[in-house]
Amino acid sequence: MIIVLKREAAQSEIDHIVEKIKSTGLAVHISKGKERTIIGAIGDEGLLSNLPLETFPGVESVMPIMKPYKLVSREFRKEGTVIDISGVRIGEAELQVIAGPCSVENRDLLIDTAKKVKAAGAKILRGGAFKPRTSPYDFQGLGPEGLKLLAEARKETGLPIISELMDPRDTELMCDYVDIIQIGARNMQNFRLLTEVGKAGKPVLLKRGLSATIKEFLMSAEYIAAQGNANIILCERGMRTFETATRNTLDLSAVPVLKEETHLPVFVDPSHAVGRWALVAPLALAAVAVGADGLMIEVHSDPENALCDGAQSLKPAKFASLMQEVRKVAAAVGRTF
Ligand code: PEP
Ligand code: MN
Repeated sequence: MIIVLKREAAQSEIDHIVEKIKSTGLAVHISKGKERTIIGAIGDEGLLSNLPLETFPGVESVMPIMKPYKLVSREFRKEGTVIDISGVRIGEAELQVIAGPCSVENRDLLIDTAKKVKAAGAKILRGGAFKPRTSPYDFQGLGPEGLKLLAEARKETGLPIISELMDPRDTELMCDYVDIIQIGARNMQNFRLLTEVGKAGKPVLLKRGLSATIKEFLMSAEYIAAQGNANIILCERGMRTFETATRNTLDLSAVPVLKEETHLPVFVDPSHAVGRWALVAPLALAAVAVGADGLMIEVHSDPENALCDGAQSLKPAKFASLMQEVRKVAAAVGRTF
């Protein structure tokens, strides 16, 4: 931590700051320049978290040296984290695709879609049982019944399953069924929920909040990791901007930034980013080109009658042709699929 003092800082103020820093157990290095004095606090910066140095008389600014996200940072772990989901390895050269309907609607539709996405190359099946809908009058998901259907689809196809957890009270139920717990964009900063999934120990796919910075995104991942669960997949899914042509604005630069900042695997969900099925393919390809470890894509056999997000859902045939294109782009950037 570097503490820059005001030009007019008095010696008594400097002494007070030094004394306070030392009382936390950190060492102090004072650099007295012509213009002003700079104090370096040396040691574990975390020990200063309860010392509001900015408020001390004589202090102009405080600059942390360490990243506030520690466990999930590249500094902490150089090599990328690889997460094994029943043999599906996420974070290696092989690209992985999660696909399926926005929400679980009924058995036949789910199993039919699961078989088709599997045949096209998807390795994990998605489907919401608890849906975070903007309107309370919209379809809220089948709840536990949806989880049972997902488990049936897994049995039928062998695909591991992922579904969204919205309420900490459902954590145990969710863990009984799914292979990956999804934390949705709207809950990215639901810290109690993050702590619960951290404790639960199941792999987690954490979506970026609608208006979250990358730093906030990583701090949320840190909440999960701080409970001892480092099996976290980050997912960029578009964010709120002034642009209205698409449902959200896909922040593709987040992918290389995240790959630099963290050892966690990074996925992209182009479906929720653009909100229109015709734009899903180009952005899915761009995501692979820019270094994503995987994709999450909504697929529905009958989008016109989908109970949720039909407008952005690909029909299975379109999804299959996209997977062919993904194969080519993946090969071009040194990945397999
Ligand atoms: C979803 O994947 O079904 C979903 C609701 O996504 P998001 O949280 O990104 O809106
Ligand atoms: Mn959806």
